[in-house]
Amino acid sequence: MTNNLEDLIKRAASDIINAGHTVALTGAGFSTESGIPDFRGPDGLWTKNPELELKAYQAFKDFQRDPKQFWIDLLDEPVKILQEWGDAEPNPGHLALVELEKKKRLKRILTQNIDNLHQKAGSKKVVDYHGNIFKLRCLACGKRYPIEKFNLDRLREKEQLPPRCKSCGDPLKPDVVYFGEPIPADVSSVSHEEAIKCDLMLVCGTSAVVFPFAELPLIASRKKRSTLDTFLSFGLSIHTPAKIVEINSDPTPLTKEGISDYLIPGKTGEILPRIVESIKTMV
Ligand code: NAD
Ligand code: ZN
Repeated sequence: MTNNLEDLIKRAASDIINAGHTVALTGAGFSTESGIPDFRGPDGLWTKNPELELKAYQAFKDFQRDPKQFWIDLLDEPVKILQEWGDAEPNPGHLALVELEKKKRLKRILTQNIDNLHQKAGSKKVVDYHGNIFKLRCLACGKRYPIEKFNLDRLREKEQLPPRCKSCGDPLKPDVVYFGEPIPADVSSVSHEEAIKCDLMLVCGTSAVVFPFAELPLIASRKKRSTLDTFLSFGLSIHTPAKIVEINSDPTPLTKEGISDYLIPGKTGEILPRIVESIKTMV
């Protein structure tokens, strides 16, 4: 088969039709067409404001040391991410995944994005691997709350920060997973399960270099054996390798190291709708 774009799109459509359990991994590239910059690209948030990157590395320690001060500083933050990202709209890539889910051709989206756009588009089975900027989370009991349940400015005025968990009273932190913070157990376990169960993984708009998220295609492709797999099989792999299909404007380490079966080069907002259309012509 030649590698021209139309052939690759048909190939992906046919792989989706033939798969028993498809999951999609998505990353920052997926939302650039919705006007949300990535962190390290030419227009990236951190490229333009390197101080924010330094802060991000400090944030988890700051929260643990003094949750009240952490929240005071956060609410003083000049970058109004919540407003800017709250106005962003899903793009045709998000809508294509909604359609695949509705047609029962996609079991789950595991996203690194924290922007809530898959949910805003209408996808139901979404795992926010790195959390969600519109939620708060209790580190003690794991409970999550929509941010609008708390009037944070009012809590600050009344000197009642930090916001507290309504179940156990512990200080709440933004749901977003910071550097040095473990991936929440519920998220980590369902993602791991999906990587083991899937026979097709669509890796869309992620450079797949941020660990442990980047392990998921390795586990699915069986290039890295999961602990559970090893335990169950006593050293013999009991799962057949999943197909790994990348949709990315550029090759990634997964492409270069032969982890992915093939790369469809292009924008997720253009390629995914074409795959969905191609499926319609085949069934
Ligand atoms: P990344 O910035 O490392 O990689 C983005 C990838 O997408 C690159 O490989 C790039 O070639 C590709 N890309 C860019 N635009 C594309 C498009 N329209 N179509 C297809 N591919 C495109 O992103 P990452 O791998 O997700 O890692 C960044 C980390 O930063 C993640 O942990 C994420 O949580 C966080 N982040 C999230 C958002 C968001 O929620 N939208 C935005 C910035 C950063
Ligand atoms: Zn709690």
